[in-house]
Amino acid sequence: MSAAKAAVTKTTVTKNGTPRPPRSSRAGGGSAAGAGAKAVPAEPWTPREAEEYYGFRRWGGSHFSVDDGGLLRVHPLGDQRAIRILDIIREAESMGIRPPLTIRVQDMLRRRVIQLNEAFRAAIRDEEYAGRYRGVFPIKVNQLREVVEEILDAGEQYDFGLEAGSKPELLVALALLENKNALLVCNGYKDDEYIRLALMGRRLGKQTIIVIEQLSELDAIIRLARETGVAPHIGLRLKLTTAGEGKWADSTGENAKFGLAATEIVAAARKLKRARMGDALRLVHFHIGSQVPNIATIKKAVAEAARYYCELVRMGFPMGMLDVGGGLGVDYDGSRSNFESSMNYNMEVYARDVVANVKSVCHRCNVAVPDITSESGRALVAPHSILIFEAVDRIVRGDLASEPLRGRHPVIVREMEDIYRNPSRLDALERLHDARQKRDEAHSLFNLGYLGLEERAEVDRLFWLTCRDIRAKLPASAAAAPDDIAALDRLLAEQYVCNFSVFQSLLDHWALDQLFPIAPVHRLDEKPTQPATLVDITCDSDGKVSDFIDVEDVRHTLDLHPLVPGKRYYLGAFLVGAYQDIMGDLHNLFGRVNEVHVFLEDDEADGFYIEETIEGSTTDKILGMIQYSADDLCRMLKRQIDRATRNDEVKPREGVALLETYEKLIRSKTYLVTGGGKRK
Ligand SMILES: *Cc1c(COP(=O)(O)O)cnc(C)c1O
Repeated sequence: MSAAKAAVTKTTVTKNGTPRPPRSSRAGGGSAAGAGAKAVPAEPWTPREAEEYYGFRRWGGSHFSVDDGGLLRVHPLGDQRAIRILDIIREAESMGIRPPLTIRVQDMLRRRVIQLNEAFRAAIRDEEYAGRYRGVFPIKVNQLREVVEEILDAGEQYDFGLEAGSKPELLVALALLENKNALLVCNGYKDDEYIRLALMGRRLGKQTIIVIEQLSELDAIIRLARETGVAPHIGLRLKLTTAGEGKWADSTGENAKFGLAATEIVAAARKLKRARMGDALRLVHFHIGSQVPNIATIKKAVAEAARYYCELVRMGFPMGMLDVGGGLGVDYDGSRSNFESSMNYNMEVYARDVVANVKSVCHRCNVAVPDITSESGRALVAPHSILIFEAVDRIVRGDLASEPLRGRHPVIVREMEDIYRNPSRLDALERLHDARQKRDEAHSLFNLGYLGLEERAEVDRLFWLTCRDIRAKLPASAAAAPDDIAALDRLLAEQYVCNFSVFQSLLDHWALDQLFPIAPVHRLDEKPTQPATLVDITCDSDGKVSDFIDVEDVRHTLDLHPLVPGKRYYLGAFLVGAYQDIMGDLHNLFGRVNEVHVFLEDDEADGFYIEETIEGSTTDKILGMIQYSADDLCRMLKRQIDRATRNDEVKPREGVALLETYEKLIRSKTYLVTGGGKRK
């Protein structure tokens, strides 16, 4: 832990060693539905079954497990020491911090940094590679100060550095990165100011490397280097012919946004020599896109880049470094396949293949091997962050909610009733098709005015009951059933309304169909019996999650536990530490969520403490970003209330109360406050 870190006062120390007494009364009401009383008798479930169904071991490696009480535990270091997620939530709640909540497991972040560096160390040792590895963290993947600082602190012993892709990121990196042996790689579009900043880094003795992405940048660098008298270190970004793979494949190839083609590399090399700045050229760089699912792609790209490296050495440039960019994946679904949400390799294999391929190309070309750099972002930060949100309500099929119709029924209702009551006559598929046909008929009759609303509602109700009955009579997995039957799961799934915004917290799910593991963090000793999809609280119909990880393919529903009135139900979205944290937008003006940073307690088995809390956005702050001043809005509303009071439409005392409510709510958080009234 850094000195700066140690100086932060611990806000609280939680002794969560077993057994921890359940806390009953809590601000916000309603004790979390842990292993305590349950309203409906549930089918028991073993920790193994829960781990298997939600894939905790598959995508979580040794970092997640379920205890005998059905609670999900995180193992920050991948060893025996574990923290129950529900304990963290309760601790945060006792501090007034409610979900939606980001939990940062800081020790896990540190471990990933160490793992990556050790993987390269081991590969270098095994391959008897003559160069070293010095990685950099691309700030854009998670810019939060505590994240960047933690990475630098854990990486200090490995001379782990930073990568900046913009001027603001470079401003951060220059101030934060003090280790003179670590690299500071400067990517992205550059203007004179950006280049001046990078040169400032050189003046201060930092290993700042300006990577040229466009040929035009080179002129500016040469000009500014002369003007300031600072000798730059320069890298060239390659436009490889090896095409990427996965969602970000377009980052490479002929039409890539960045990088120099072979002709431009030659032009840049000549230009540098003519300017007598050949000494400046130190590095080649490539980036074939994020989350590369297939190791074969990486190997090919590395080999191609190594060829460029060797040629530039032969042309007489000092070189010394090869930067293999990002792309190291995260196995979001745990399938270890080359599916786009997965990867068919791991960190150790990645390091070994990078090192071995660089070595073999260099040996073949008779060129001394370079130091290797990687810009792995996703793989470092994705695992440490968990988004916790509460399922606050469910959208039941309205058709099932209605009461049976009394009295004499028209023929169409009786026919539907017959399909529902007498299943044995028909096989499942026939029955489903008949039911659909009857329902369509009923809708036509309704539209033409021959069927009343109540009768139509009865047909709908019977239709859904029939669907349920068909599903209930099928084996648990409908995978092998005809498509129409298999689709029943989706049709019958309930929508769980969750207090969060996909657009703020799971943006890649909406934008790129990226899958994240999602699972309840408690009640894992009960069999989840309700197929469900998730909807968020934005009023956007896209604000939903209806694709979930599965070992093969994608599931369209997730089995969850029935909501119990008065009990909270917490879900976690996992592996969300890369990109999601920062790219969220303000759709419906929902802001950043609350956040707690959790550390293992050194001197206690299974203990933890919350070192830092970051309050989510308040409404006035979000409004300020789009030019509304909360003070102005309050004044505007007050004017209207005053007028209403003058006109005797509102009593003065009530007017004061109305204004107070408005003023209070405009300064509070943007998400739902749950647990106030009675829940359905
Ligand atoms: C985004 C980016 C990275 C990070 O990629 P990951 O796949 O997240 O590791 C690295 N280098 C460059 C140039 C990038 O743009």
